[in-house]
Amino acid sequence: MSEKKVYIIPCSGIGKVFGSIGRKTAYIVVNELAKDKTTLECLPLIVKGKKEVIEALKENKVIALDGCPLKCSYNDLMEAVGKVDAQFLTTDIVKENRSLKPEPSIIPVGKNTKQLAIKLAEKVAAEVDKLLEENMERDD
Ligand code: SF4
Repeated sequence: MSEKKVYIIPCSGIGKVFGSIGRKTAYIVVNELAKDKTTLECLPLIVKGKKEVIEALKENKVIALDGCPLKCSYNDLMEAVGKVDAQFLTTDIVKENRSLKPEPSIIPVGKNTKQLAIKLAEKVAAEVDKLLEENMERDD
């Protein structure tokens, strides 16, 4: 595996469960499914333009996780870093799993919300492997 990591950047969606799905997804990917292959960075720090952070994002693959079609993470990354390697919308995983209606509760999140986050995290983790493979092919 390449030593490079994939940055997972969830949006800051704070008031609705769709933002919570994004954050929970990011934690599952970084702490469980793609541990040692991924890392988190804080979106406001990226927006602020912290130099070391922007450089690291330019040198590594970046995945945006957004909680609604306004796509704050994707758009902020495009503006600050100039690229996004993959993007996911939590609303898509909800549409794909109509039987798992997310509960409105943000703290704690409900059972269905957790299940949706796990399903989305599995997709994100698969994308992480794909992006790291691209890195390895480029390094060969
Ligand atoms: S993408 Fe949607 S949920 Fe996320 S921070 Fe922006 S407005 Fe909020």
